[in-house]
Amino acid sequence: MLKHLTFKAFTEITKTATITVDQHGGRAKCLQRLIRLDMPVPTTVALSFETVRQIAQGKMTDVEAILDFFGDTPLVSVRPSAEGADWGGPGAILNIGMNERRHAVMVQRRGEDAANAIYLRFIHTYAVQVAHLDADLFPPVQRPARSDVAEALRIYEIETDEPFPEEPAEQLAGVLRSMARAWEGTSARLLRKARGAPEDAGLGLVVQRMSLGVGNDESGSGVMQFINSTTGKAQITGRYMSQSQGRDALALKHAAIFLTRDPRGPSLEELAPEIFDQLVGLGELARSKLREEMQIEFVIQDSVLSVIDAVRVARTARANVEIVVGLAQDRIITRDEALLRVPPRSLNELMHWQVNPEAERNALLRGIAASPGAAVGKLVFSSTRAQALAAQGEACILAKRETSPDDVRGMHAAKGVLTAKGGMSSHAAVIARGLGVPCVVGAGQIIIDRRARHMRLPDGRIFEEGALVTLDGSAGEVLDGAADMLEPALGEAFQTLLGWADAVRDIGVRVNADTPEDARIARTFKAEGIGLCRTEHMFFDDDRLTVMREMIFADAPEDRADALRQLLPMQREDFTRLFEIMEGLPVCIRLFDPPLHEFLPADRQGVVDLANALGRPVSDVQARIDSMTEFNPMLGLRGVRLGITVPEIYEMQVQAIFEAVIALADAGTEVVPEIMLPLVSAQREVEILQSRIEQVAAKVRAERTAAFSYKLGVMVETPRAALKAHNIAELCSFMSFGTNDLTQMTYGLSRDDAGRFMQTYVQQGVFKEDPFHYLDKEGVGELLQIGAQRGRKANPRIVLSICGEHGGTADSIAFARECGFNYVSCSPFRVPVARLAGAHAVLTRR
Ligand code: PEP
Ligand code: MG
Repeated sequence: MLKHLTFKAFTEITKTATITVDQHGGRAKCLQRLIRLDMPVPTTVALSFETVRQIAQGKMTDVEAILDFFGDTPLVSVRPSAEGADWGGPGAILNIGMNERRHAVMVQRRGEDAANAIYLRFIHTYAVQVAHLDADLFPPVQRPARSDVAEALRIYEIETDEPFPEEPAEQLAGVLRSMARAWEGTSARLLRKARGAPEDAGLGLVVQRMSLGVGNDESGSGVMQFINSTTGKAQITGRYMSQSQGRDALALKHAAIFLTRDPRGPSLEELAPEIFDQLVGLGELARSKLREEMQIEFVIQDSVLSVIDAVRVARTARANVEIVVGLAQDRIITRDEALLRVPPRSLNELMHWQVNPEAERNALLRGIAASPGAAVGKLVFSSTRAQALAAQGEACILAKRETSPDDVRGMHAAKGVLTAKGGMSSHAAVIARGLGVPCVVGAGQIIIDRRARHMRLPDGRIFEEGALVTLDGSAGEVLDGAADMLEPALGEAFQTLLGWADAVRDIGVRVNADTPEDARIARTFKAEGIGLCRTEHMFFDDDRLTVMREMIFADAPEDRADALRQLLPMQREDFTRLFEIMEGLPVCIRLFDPPLHEFLPADRQGVVDLANALGRPVSDVQARIDSMTEFNPMLGLRGVRLGITVPEIYEMQVQAIFEAVIALADAGTEVVPEIMLPLVSAQREVEILQSRIEQVAAKVRAERTAAFSYKLGVMVETPRAALKAHNIAELCSFMSFGTNDLTQMTYGLSRDDAGRFMQTYVQQGVFKEDPFHYLDKEGVGELLQIGAQRGRKANPRIVLSICGEHGGTADSIAFARECGFNYVSCSPFRVPVARLAGAHAVLTRR
């Protein structure tokens, strides 16, 4: 009972009426704002969420009282008004109130054609949306005659066994009931839930006096906006159509005219210059007062302008950045507000080529969107072919069942990567993000036949090598042929916005960079240093791979030392180049991490080639490979375990680091390298390596009579390292949490195999999200918290960071900041996303 007293069933929208977004929806509130700006908005009445809910339950509101707002012969429209702008809602219904009497009057005033068109339009809409008749029963009529109206009324009566409702109140009740019920329907519920609406989201409705758009003097309707939705640059766009209603001008573009003068045809600016100027003025007013770029829906009736609605301009991510920076620079919104209006992830769209959102899409297959951006190229099924095509200047898309470290150069050569297997943190996904190459993984429905050089889709279609496709890594799709593309947009607005983000942010952002190219990209994205340099990737170049294999196959320590002596100058060169590019910014180098067998050939031909290169019998080589096989290599002899059992590799690497530091010092740049030990689980591992590394440092200092310092740190990737962080922290200057392996080991879930069932797991709600993509704050996050707390307590000056893939996602950045981490480190193309997310983390906590 109380409820009935506290809510008003419907309210005329005036400057002072109580209209709220959470009671009446966004459209009603926006109309009130337009009215407050003295815009010519026709009389409008808003129905509250509660009223609409009651209508859906069969309790009709007082429709007569609503119609009283609109005079003796009401003619109105009804539009949905949900709380969220993109939560959907039933389609608008126009011309409620049309009946025989009204038609007769309209024939007198506006002519037979206009009256017939309006009446017929209403009958059609009512029949389909309210009475749920099949739209095909009412074929479109170009210039409806009276007989067409009579025929439509006859069909309505036959199909529904009832005459078409004559009374406006009855018509309005029917419309309100059908809209209220449509909102409660399953498909509408699912749609809005997918767009983030809560379970009990309400629907408001607005009833508005019709501005007809048909008449004797200039009459019509149109839509105008002041910004290009794709680029965000100032540009008046939209259409106007004489003798039309609703959004006809957009739907029937061929029959509509331009707004501004245009060589392609007539325009509103020429047809009705005063109204055009009035609209431009209203646009400026809306922008400055509503603090947003708005699209205005307008009607002209007998040369008089009405604004019937205004909505936030739909836009691409790049347009959004341009728009919010413009609004802040014009002091319409604050910089903080501008930052918050850009979702960090949306920056991905600006950094890469994109499929034009307006282009046609002919999707062939779907997978996981593993690395953003899009590329057009010829399909190839091996890294060698990718490199060969790239050498000829041809763009290609590399498609493989899965990738391995051997494929890194092929992936680099390709414009896009597709794999049938794998998830967000599979090899292909991680490397592609690092390289900034668009990538789709886990497209399990395709069969790739490398030998036959083709790919088979589930429907039996076969795509041969060389077929032209578009890989859309942002949508996780592969499209047939070459789609229309938009180029990256790293212009002024992008840089300005990120500059503002840096001024707000208080968590550092470094980059995961393994190559000079990564480092260069990271500098352009203003990373504050390298947080993770994975050194193993440096050994996959052809010349190094052979030496690496010699080292692995060496029987005697001297042979191994000999191979490492050859690798030393190459590593020194690698580090020197990285230090040079980073110009004194911190560089954290992780010593060798993967199991050695990753460097050995995987197929028979590779074994034969290797045997030839080593001058050994094939059987010997095969036996050696077999002897190195581990049941579970990711939990086997790798990382620091390799550093302890085969010490020469780490010794060579640290020597190369120190010598590179000296080379930089000679050239005038001081570098204090950060040396990081991977996969640590025990304090003693750190102790042993600490003393070995110090021995190498002492030797290099003595030999080169040079002074330098370095920092030693540990990668926290095993649950044990997080739990025993206090022991480990005592021995090091920094701890970087490798959340990829930490997630893998906390869940006991292989990061390379999870893709096979991750979708099912997420769909069935076992996991809320893929934990390799979104940090599992409850489980893995607790280990981060424990590790950070214990580590800091034992060593208050310790620097804490996250360098797994999660380092680049907004929610983990906020979490890392809450836990007191000093910085995050992520792939080069995620650096801007992380800079903005860091600012959001501050602003949303204020
Ligand atoms: C990690 O495990 O989180 C990490 C950064 O190392 P990698 O991905 O190289 O295993
Ligand atoms: Mg790791």
